[in-house]
Amino acid sequence: MALNGKPDAVVVGSGPNGLAAALRLSAAGLRVQVVERADRPGGGMRTEELTRPGYRHDVCSTVQPMAAAAPFFREFDLPSRGVRLVQPEICYAHPLDGGRAAVSQRSLEATAAGLGPDAAAYRRLFEPLVEHGDDVIDFFLTSQLRRPPTKSVLQVTQFALNALPNVRWLARRYFDTQEGQALLAGAAAHGMLDLSRPLTAGLGMILGMLAHHVGWPLVEGGSQALADAMVRALEEQGGELVTGHEVTDLREFDGVPAVLLDTTPRAFVAMAGDRVNEGYRRWVARYKHGPGVFKIDWVLSEPVPWTNSDVRRAGTLHLAGTLEETLAGEAAPAAGRLTDKPYVLAVQPTVADPTRAPEGGHVFWAYVHVPHGSDADMTEAIENQVERFAPGFRDTVVERVTKNAVQMEQWNPNHVGGDISNGEASFRQMLARPVPRWNTYRTPARGVYLASAATPPGPAVHGQCGDNAARVALRDVFGVREAPPLKPALG
Ligand SMILES: Cc1cc2nc3c(=O)[nH]c(=O)nc-3n(C[C@H](O)[C@H](O)[C@H](O)COP(=O)(O)OP(=O)(O)OC[C@H]3O[C@@H](n4cnc5c(N)ncnc54)[C@H](O)[C@@H]3O)c2cc1C
Repeated sequence: MALNGKPDAVVVGSGPNGLAAALRLSAAGLRVQVVERADRPGGGMRTEELTRPGYRHDVCSTVQPMAAAAPFFREFDLPSRGVRLVQPEICYAHPLDGGRAAVSQRSLEATAAGLGPDAAAYRRLFEPLVEHGDDVIDFFLTSQLRRPPTKSVLQVTQFALNALPNVRWLARRYFDTQEGQALLAGAAAHGMLDLSRPLTAGLGMILGMLAHHVGWPLVEGGSQALADAMVRALEEQGGELVTGHEVTDLREFDGVPAVLLDTTPRAFVAMAGDRVNEGYRRWVARYKHGPGVFKIDWVLSEPVPWTNSDVRRAGTLHLAGTLEETLAGEAAPAAGRLTDKPYVLAVQPTVADPTRAPEGGHVFWAYVHVPHGSDADMTEAIENQVERFAPGFRDTVVERVTKNAVQMEQWNPNHVGGDISNGEASFRQMLARPVPRWNTYRTPARGVYLASAATPPGPAVHGQCGDNAARVALRDVFGVREAPPLKPALG
């Protein structure tokens, strides 16, 4: 459907943040157009038959605890939109040599019990957070809107205090066993930072807490189903999606009152030309993109033959070994080095969602962090780590496709140098993301807002950067002080 005349607002990019922004603007009755460079919408939620027909590979995100917990998606109400989340029996597993493994389950009690001598410490760390899960998540995802936590101030404060240090410190402070330490560090390593840096504890705690709060679910059929549901909702409300169009110059939208960008800050500066002052331009040049990612998608003839039977039931795997090995695996790419013992983040979607492959087929993916912009092929290193905990794995491989960090950026320009976080999630860059301003969604160009993962609260599929940016635009441009609720699903 084509909009008749100029839209009230344009959103550039149809990742989770772009689509969340579009839905919030549309809920206010605005005529919204989303413009996407790729031929399909979704950005980090895309699912493709990368290998062979019927094998549905998530190109980027698969594990959706943030989508299950975030205020934006709670309001969007996935079940009413026909999006089904499926839960693996074990949320995530961290195998260790000798057939041992630390595993996180939906039940906090069962997870703690599995950690033996560290059970009490695990409960002490996570119980208060899980009890107030929504408040902690709301604080983490929306505090940038300068709303003080109204509830559970104690829990939020405890979270904030434990979140500030590095995860090496927190893991050693709380846990005595290799299992307890590795379980926490493996979750923290999703952040793509050297794990001796501040704030890495925070991500480990948030992701650990989410396992017990909402699980680490997958979208049945692939993450694309989530993107498609968002597009459907937008179109039902009269919004429009244009694909296959890369925006390079904001003058294209002269006369459109609000433009929201699901892009990098660098792309914004390039598109804006002389609408950006020198000071802002310099800050953007200083905004750092971190390590890249090398990813493999496999088709397997049978499930991965993990030595430990609990690991076979897990959705997500953290493959590195002990805390020390996990730290070393992540220190290397952050320092610009390759390692043959990387921290491998792997997902076995068909364990929880058999619809992603023809009867009896299996898909599996893994990535490692590599130096920024590296074109190194990490297939051997990744498969060695899988073999270490699943001897015979290579015999199950039917087909594989790989993407190095350079190709990651070619696929989506938001992944600068292969950095899938759209800017390092370091302490400094989380305090002021992407540049030091009171409100970082606003830009110096009148009516233009940043809405991507380069704004708070940063990466992951929560839609909150887009929703937050849309609320600011609604207030600034359209005088809507209280953003209206999302429109419910039709029918
Ligand atoms: C391999 C991988 C695995 C991941 N796994 C997970 C996971 O399991 N769980 C999770 O929560 N997160 C995961 N993530 C992170 C998550 O996908 C991102 O944080 C999230 O998608 C960011 O959303 P976004 O809307 O800011 O940007 P994106 O999803 O990157 O979307 C941006 C969109 O804008 C388009 N675009 C960019 N520039 C232009 C332009 N100039 N003109 C028009 N269109 C443009 C792009 O084509 C893209 O479609 C993963 C990411 C990757 C790459």
